[in-house]
Amino acid sequence: MTNVFASETAFAIEAVQAASRACRAVQAALVTEQTIQKKDRSPVTVADFASQAIVCAQLAEAFPEDAMVAEEDSGQLQGDEHADARRSVVSHVGAVLGSSPSDQQVLAWIDHGASAAGGSERFWTLDPIDGTKGFLRRGQYAVALALIEAGEIVLGVLGCPNLAMETGGCGALLIAARGQGTRLLSLDGNGAEGTTARVSTRSAADGARFCESVESGHSDQGQSAAIAARLGITAEPVRMDSQAKYATVARGEASIYMRLPTRADYREKIWDHAAGVIVVEEAGGRVSDIHGKPLDFTHGRQLEQNAGVLATNGHLHDQVVGAIGATLSGA
Ligand code: AMP
Ligand code: MG
Repeated sequence: MTNVFASETAFAIEAVQAASRACRAVQAALVTEQTIQKKDRSPVTVADFASQAIVCAQLAEAFPEDAMVAEEDSGQLQGDEHADARRSVVSHVGAVLGSSPSDQQVLAWIDHGASAAGGSERFWTLDPIDGTKGFLRRGQYAVALALIEAGEIVLGVLGCPNLAMETGGCGALLIAARGQGTRLLSLDGNGAEGTTARVSTRSAADGARFCESVESGHSDQGQSAAIAARLGITAEPVRMDSQAKYATVARGEASIYMRLPTRADYREKIWDHAAGVIVVEEAGGRVSDIHGKPLDFTHGRQLEQNAGVLATNGHLHDQVVGAIGATLSGA
């Protein structure tokens, strides 16, 4: 099948690979690497900024007209008090791009991702490091890039630098284009070939494995345990940070990923899900919110109309939606 998004795919693979190299370089040097706390007290590292600058720099070159909705902005790198972090970001970006950009150029690349898009027009969305906490504890994290057109995710590329490959080594790259399946490659390869990722064929919930966040503040682990018990699941949950959970479902290593709201007012961010969603769907799975409602990517930076997320191998979807509903209503 011809890929109508061939040039977008080529750009996205290269950008995610380049950003992942920067993340690994920062992680290798990470002892007391500067982390800056955002207003909501979540950590952001030099690698988050470097990764965003690299992807945005490459997007501006490949598709100068395209909008980008990315997680970070340069606000926290401005000013004298952040000179060290800024220098470090600029140096990592330069090393990966093989150039010597100015501070201003790198900050401008980061802010290229501050687009207000996110409606029904064409735009990209990026989480430069999804799972920053996983990155800091040397666990799972992901570089997640997706293209959305008319509210539909049409392309997703997920780089998971610490995810083990069956073929040995660490570093997985998952690429999904609408209608064309999900490819699984080594993150360090040349972006060609690889294998086809497929979800599990399991149709009985009781032997299933499910994924959830390590962070109990991101997904209600007490509720997931109750839902799992209702479904007859006995295996321990697979806890990992980031959209590596979507990769794990897409590779058939778990059949369910539950993300259960811990607060009624929290809205999921589009960059935390877009790439992972298409990677699972094109591997044969299903994704919805916890009520079974399709995720709606036409409301700006957040999934305003959805609560939590559920990704499954498809066969188990309705059963799990039912068990979530029954558990949450106390039935
Ligand atoms: P995970 O690694 O799956 O735990 O997800 C990491 C993401 O959780 C971060 O990128 C945040 O955007 C997001 N996040 C932050 N606070 C919450 C929350 N209260 N509920 C759900 N997700 C959150
Ligand atoms: Mg994230």
